[in-house]
Amino acid sequence: MIDLKSQMLSELQQEMEQLGEPKFRAKQISSWMHEKLADSFDEMTNLPKSLREKLQQRYEWVRLELVQVQQSDQDGTCKFLFRLPDGNVIESVQMKYHHGNSVCISSQAGCRMGCRFCASTLNGLERNLKASEMLEQIYQIQKWSKERVHNVVVMGTGEPLDNYDALLRFLRLLTQEGGLHISQRNVTVSTCGLVPQMRRLADEKLQITLALSLHAPNQEKRRSIMPIAGKYGLSEVLDACRYYFAQTGRRITFEYSLVGGVNDSREDAEELAALVKPLNCHINLIPVNPVRERKFAPPDHRAVVNFKNKLEKSGINVTIRREMGRDIDGACGQLRKSYMDTERVR
Ligand code: SAH
Repeated sequence: MIDLKSQMLSELQQEMEQLGEPKFRAKQISSWMHEKLADSFDEMTNLPKSLREKLQQRYEWVRLELVQVQQSDQDGTCKFLFRLPDGNVIESVQMKYHHGNSVCISSQAGCRMGCRFCASTLNGLERNLKASEMLEQIYQIQKWSKERVHNVVVMGTGEPLDNYDALLRFLRLLTQEGGLHISQRNVTVSTCGLVPQMRRLADEKLQITLALSLHAPNQEKRRSIMPIAGKYGLSEVLDACRYYFAQTGRRITFEYSLVGGVNDSREDAEELAALVKPLNCHINLIPVNPVRERKFAPPDHRAVVNFKNKLEKSGINVTIRREMGRDIDGACGQLRKSYMDTERVR
């Protein structure tokens, strides 16, 4: 069965044509799904009942079920656990900033990239998410909180560029007129560095921000914490970043999770500064979130600030990412993992 919520407007129009319906029905249905955020066909009251019934019989209707919400007492960050129609669970996060609400979504159930410090990858990849399942995370959070979502970051569980086609559909549906119409400039996609897909994305010439998970100042160190670096070396990845900037004019963001005793020394900072200096970029420093199953720990606050200062002195744009939601299994994949572990015990 075709999943209606993942269809582009032109595809919806073709479906309506096949049903012998007037073309304008496609726009009405699209608006119910992506603008009014309807939870069922029944809500689409400007469609004849007979058409609603036909839709119900013919098409898959994807809706996420909210299983759990955890709210941080520290900063109001909310972490959501959703159940997909097939029973898999995924997590999303809502963060409140002065400039508006950001939602961080998952792109896969699980992940197969194997980064050593990350909880999302511990049980491997379950499956790719559909475009509708990515959208639904945002739709359900907006409905639940009754607050508009301004920014979207694809930085939850999964490697978005490992689910390329669904990601592109998602990005187009999210930013299109007649949907939530979020500005492409307010959307960030983060990747561990899948070079062919980074180049493909560059060629789409979207205005979204590409974030690269760098995490090390050289190939050898990067490879020791990110297995994907064995497939795509650092120089290739940085070439793809330069290409992204050339094609889109969008400045690259580098994410650098600081791990005590691994990538946080003075020498690391110097090497990193020299590496990224020639690029038009911004660095986000994230003190690593400790994950129960991993032995990595963040450096102390002083070391984080020293690292930042060192980069700044070399003329690099850098921010320390606020560690939001630490008290609520904030790190990628941790809430999902702990939920799945307790389910298994039961
Ligand atoms: N797969 C994509 C996006 C998901 S992760 C990617 O690799 O970019 C979002 C960011 O959080 C990535 O930079 C990831 O490396 C980082 N991350 C994962 N686990 C972390 C942890 N325990 N502490 C800090 N950052 C972590």
